[in-house]
Amino acid sequence: MKGLLTAVGLAALALPGPAQALIGYGITMYDPSCAFGCYDSVSGYMLECSVMDHGPVGAHSHGAGGPTSPECRAGDTYFLTTLAYCMNTTCDASTPMWKMERFWSEQATGSKTVAAKWSYGEALAQVKEPPTDEYGEDDHHLTRTVLLDPETVKSNAETREYFEYAEMIHSRYGLVLLIVGFGTPVIISLFTKLPYMSTLSDKLKPYLVYPSLIGTYHVRPLPYLLGNAATIGQSLYVIMFAALNIAMAAAGYKSVQPNAWFGNQWQEVMGYFSARTGVLAFALTPLVILLSGRNNILLWATNWSHSTFMILHRWVARIYAAQVIVHSIAELVLYIDMGSYEAEFKTEYWAWGIVGTVFACAMLVFSSLFFRRWSYEVFLIGHIIMAVFVIVGSWYHVEFLFSRKWGYEFWLYAACAVWFFDRVIRVFRILKNGPRRAVVTEVAEDIVRVDVKGIRWTAAPGLHTYAYFPALSPWRPWENHPFSILPTALLRSKREASLSGAASGSDTPSNADIEKSGGVTSTSTPERDDQALGGAPGAGITLYVRKSKGLTKLLANHNSLLTLLDGPYPDNPTDGVLKSDRLLLIAGGVGITGVLPYIARHTNVKVCWSVRASAEGLVRDLEGPLSRAAEKDVRVGSRLDVAALLAEEERTGWNRVGVVVCGPGGLCDDTRALVTAKARSGPTVWELEVDAFSW
Ligand SMILES: Cc1cc2nc3c(=O)[nH]c(=O)nc-3n(C[C@H](O)[C@H](O)[C@H](O)COP(=O)(O)OP(=O)(O)OC[C@H]3O[C@@H](n4cnc5c(N)ncnc54)[C@H](O)[C@@H]3O)c2cc1C
Repeated sequence: MKGLLTAVGLAALALPGPAQALIGYGITMYDPSCAFGCYDSVSGYMLECSVMDHGPVGAHSHGAGGPTSPECRAGDTYFLTTLAYCMNTTCDASTPMWKMERFWSEQATGSKTVAAKWSYGEALAQVKEPPTDEYGEDDHHLTRTVLLDPETVKSNAETREYFEYAEMIHSRYGLVLLIVGFGTPVIISLFTKLPYMSTLSDKLKPYLVYPSLIGTYHVRPLPYLLGNAATIGQSLYVIMFAALNIAMAAAGYKSVQPNAWFGNQWQEVMGYFSARTGVLAFALTPLVILLSGRNNILLWATNWSHSTFMILHRWVARIYAAQVIVHSIAELVLYIDMGSYEAEFKTEYWAWGIVGTVFACAMLVFSSLFFRRWSYEVFLIGHIIMAVFVIVGSWYHVEFLFSRKWGYEFWLYAACAVWFFDRVIRVFRILKNGPRRAVVTEVAEDIVRVDVKGIRWTAAPGLHTYAYFPALSPWRPWENHPFSILPTALLRSKREASLSGAASGSDTPSNADIEKSGGVTSTSTPERDDQALGGAPGAGITLYVRKSKGLTKLLANHNSLLTLLDGPYPDNPTDGVLKSDRLLLIAGGVGITGVLPYIARHTNVKVCWSVRASAEGLVRDLEGPLSRAAEKDVRVGSRLDVAALLAEEERTGWNRVGVVVCGPGGLCDDTRALVTAKARSGPTVWELEVDAFSW
C-alpha cells in the first residue's frame, strides 16, 4: 500500500525524482532520532559563547533560536564532545555511520549552513575519558564533556519520532485523498466497460445517474438561488469524499508523553490535527483546480460529463475550504492554549496564512449562484484573482515557516502545474485554429448564426467550443463563451434540403410547422452562399447564439468578424445514446444546436423541437438538416408534451431508447424526471443525456 501510494503520488505530482517530495515519501525529518534526541538534550545548555539577550522562540522553531547561536555551537569544544559522546552511546549499531556523519554535518550546530569545527569522528576522538557527571544547577555554562540524562534523551528522540510519524501520515492521507478523488471517476468509468457490466449499468442508471437528489431540481436552481442540486450519483461521490476527508483528518494519531514540544496530550494531538488539516487542504488544491479545467485529464479518461466535473469542482472546493477553516481555527485554539498566540500573531507566516484563509472563504461566498448570475464575467475574473491570492498566501505561509524544507510546496507546484497545463493547451488550441473571420447573420429576433469557415473538426455530436470575439469586447479580449458546434456541412441550403426531402419522401419542416404551430410558417429563407462560407460543404463550423445580456448581446450582422476558437471540447458522452435502437432528440429554442449533430450519426432519429414564435427564423434556417431526420415534431409557439413523447416511444416497443435533451432548465429537468420514472418501470431500457447549456 505504502509503495503504491508513493509511486502514484510521485507520478501525480510529476516530480523530478524521489529525493525531494513529501515527508515520508522522499523526505525524512529526524533520522537518526537518537542523534536529534542528544542534540535537543544538550542544545539548551549555556555555552561560554551564549548570550542572554535573544529573541522569542516560536512554537514552530523545534529547538532553533535561543541564547546560543549555531556559530557559537560550531566552535564550542564541550558542546561538540558532549553531543558526540551521547550519540555514540545512545544510537545502536543499526544506525549506519553515514547517517551519524550526515546528521553531524547538517544538524550538529542547529544550522545546515554552519559547520562544526570537527567532524563527528574527530569530536568523538576528543573524548579521552568517558564523562562521569551531568550538567548541574551550579554550572553557569558547559565547561566539560558531560553525561546527558538518558530519560531526557529518550523523550526528546521520541518527541521527534512521533512528530515525524504524524507528518508522514499527513502526507500519506493527503495522497489518499488525491488518489481517491482523482481515481474514483476513472475506476467507475473503467468498470462500466468491463464485460457483462452493461446490464448492471442499465439497471443502476435510473437510480444513480439520472435522478436528482432534490426533487426535479438539477438544471433549474434550487429556491432562493441556493445552487444546483446534484444527481444521486454525484451526491454519492461528494458524500464519500466528504466522509473520507473527515476520516483522514480524524484518524491515525499517536501520542507520546512527556513531550518536549507539547505540554500535554491535548496540545500534542491538537498540534498534529491542525497540521493534518493544513496538509489535507494543500493536497486538495490540485484536485479542485483539475475538476474545473477544460483540458482536464479526467475528461479524457472517463465518460463523465464536464458539467458533472463542475459540480464536483464546487463541492470539493467547499470541502477544501472547510479543511482550511478548521486548520486556521485549530492553530488559533492551540496557540492560545500554549500561550504563544501573541508571538505567532506577529509573524509573517501567520499573516500569509490569514490571507489564504480569508480568500478561500471569500471564494465560497462569491462563487454562489447569486453572484454567478449577477455577472458571470465579474465572477470569473474575481474567482481567478482570489484563487491566486489563496495559492500565494499558502505559498508564503509555508515558505516563511519552513523555507521549502519539508516539501509542502510540492502540493502547490502540482496545483499550479494543473492550472498552467490547462491554460497552455487553451492557447495552443486557439493558435492551431488560427484567427478566423466569421459571418454573423441575424436569423431571428434574438438569435444569430455565426459561420466560421475553414475549420475542419469532427462532426461528432456532444462537442462545444469557446468563442472569442475580441472586436466586440476590446476591453476584455480574453472573454470567451461556450457554444455547441454544428458542422456547416450539416446546414445545407434550403433548395438542397427540399430536394433531399422530396427524394426521401419525408415531411418538410414547413409542412410540419404549419400542422403543429397553429399556422406560424415561413415565407422566405435567407439563401446562404456555401462557397462564401468556405467552399465545399464541410469546411467550416456554425454556431447559433441566443443573445443574452453580456457579450452575446453585441452580436449583429457582420461579414467578417474576428473570431478565435478554443476547442473542440467534449461535453456529454455520446456512446450510450448512439448505441440505442431509437434516438429521441428533444430540444427547446436554441438548444437545437446541441442535438442536431446526432442526426448525422444515427439512422433512427426523431427530433422534437419547440421554439417561441419569435424564433421562427431559426426554424427556417435549419430546414435543411431537419429534413434529414427520420421523424420530426417541430412546434413554433407551443410546447412539447415530453410525457406523451416518451410514452409513444415506449408503445412502439424499442428495446433501448436514447434521449438527448437540450434546452431551458425546466425542459431538461422535466425530461430527466420523466425518463427516470420510465427507466425504473421497464421493460424499455432508457439512455439519457442532458445538455443544459449551463454548469
Ligand atoms: C456547454 C455549453 C454549450 C452552450 N452552447 C450554446 C449554444 O450553442 N448557443 C447558445 O446560444 N448558448 C449556448 N450556451 C450558453 C452560452 O454559453 C451563454 O448563453 C453565453 O455564455 C452567455 O454569454 P453573455 O456574456 O451574453 O451572457 P450573460 O448574460 O452575461 O450571462 C448569462 C448566463 O450565461 C452563462 N455564462 C456566461 N458566460 C459563461 C461562460 N463563459 N461559461 C459558461 N457559462 C457562461 C451564465 O450562466 C450566465 O448566468 C452554451 C453553454 C454551455 C455551458
